[in-house]
Amino acid sequence: MHELSIVKDIFDTLEEHYDAKVEDIQQVQVTAGLLSNVQPVLIQNAFDAFITDHPYYREMELEVLVNDIIAHCDHCKKDFQVRYHKFVCDDCGTPSANIVQGNELFISKVIFKQKEH
Ligand SMILES: [Zn+2]
Repeated sequence: MHELSIVKDIFDTLEEHYDAKVEDIQQVQVTAGLLSNVQPVLIQNAFDAFITDHPYYREMELEVLVNDIIAHCDHCKKDFQVRYHKFVCDDCGTPSANIVQGNELFISKVIFKQKEH
């Protein structure tokens, strides 16, 4: 399953960066571009399945942000938003496959639990 391997990658990355502190993470925010082939609902389901199998992480929450697709028009020298998978500049109508945003998938924020003093 595609989404489950993405979730495993997310946890691998977190464990690499934060080591034992991963257990203190309250929320992970992941940003996924519309072209990255990630369905927020499916990744949420995979995340829920993963933390059920890994009780250390049971209180962790996931937030998925979706990035629009942005392409660059060489003719107008500007970026434009791709809507309905039409890779055509709003202004001049020139087709462009020069994607500047939309393929990405990364951990955009990690929030740790507030420790009681
Ligand atoms: Zn243009």
